[in-house]
Amino acid sequence: MTETAQRLAALETRIAAACLRAGRPREAVQLVLVSKTVALETLLAAHTAGARIFGENKAQELKQKASQWPASAAAPEWHFIGHLQSNKIKDVLPWIRLLHSLDRPSLAEKLSQALQQRGQTLPVLVQVNTSAESSKSGVPPAEALGFMQQVSQLPGLSLQGLMTIGPLGTDEATTRQCFRQLRQLQQAGREALNLPLNSLSMGMSGDFEWAIEEGATLIRVGSAVFGPRQP
Ligand SMILES: *Cc1c(COP(=O)(O)O)cnc(C)c1O
Repeated sequence: MTETAQRLAALETRIAAACLRAGRPREAVQLVLVSKTVALETLLAAHTAGARIFGENKAQELKQKASQWPASAAAPEWHFIGHLQSNKIKDVLPWIRLLHSLDRPSLAEKLSQALQQRGQTLPVLVQVNTSAESSKSGVPPAEALGFMQQVSQLPGLSLQGLMTIGPLGTDEATTRQCFRQLRQLQQAGREALNLPLNSLSMGMSGDFEWAIEEGATLIRVGSAVFGPRQP
């Protein structure tokens, strides 16, 4: 077994245990393996070990890895999880199956235009800045419902749910509060928009177990499998 396969197996044990504690089926939670800065050959090892979804946060890096993926291996599912500049939309649209980080109205409008031109529909999540940290992208919770409404009406965008990044370096109670707030916004959105909004993308290496217990359907985990990244 490669080191990547061992670390993935250890992660899988923790995911399964968190699902069990939460009384949720394992299939209710999908792992997005965050592969930013990680070499393609390591991704291939992860793929061989069973990883099926990779999350990238830079358009160029995503495009490069996705286009260099060998034809001999089944293609993985690529998700975009980072701040997307409008001028990079064209680089990611051919590859991604889900955008986790729809974080502003101007991006939603430009995406919608590009998708209509391509005759394509893209599943998206609205990113909410639940921790109110100024360094983070995402709409403030108070604006989330209005933004979700706008997104739900734009052609080409298929609103599937919400995403948040938990607060960094804080305690369990504060982190769980952010995840609960995302779930409450999901509920409010369901009622206001009459959409299922089934996806909740929340939880990273340091907090994915709490996120699973709070209802995450997508967790985004990188360093727990690939080790610390170079800053
Ligand atoms: C890097 C990143 C992750 C993964 O972080 P880890 O702590 O390495 O698991 C998750 N979500 C987003 C948006 C990221 O940029």
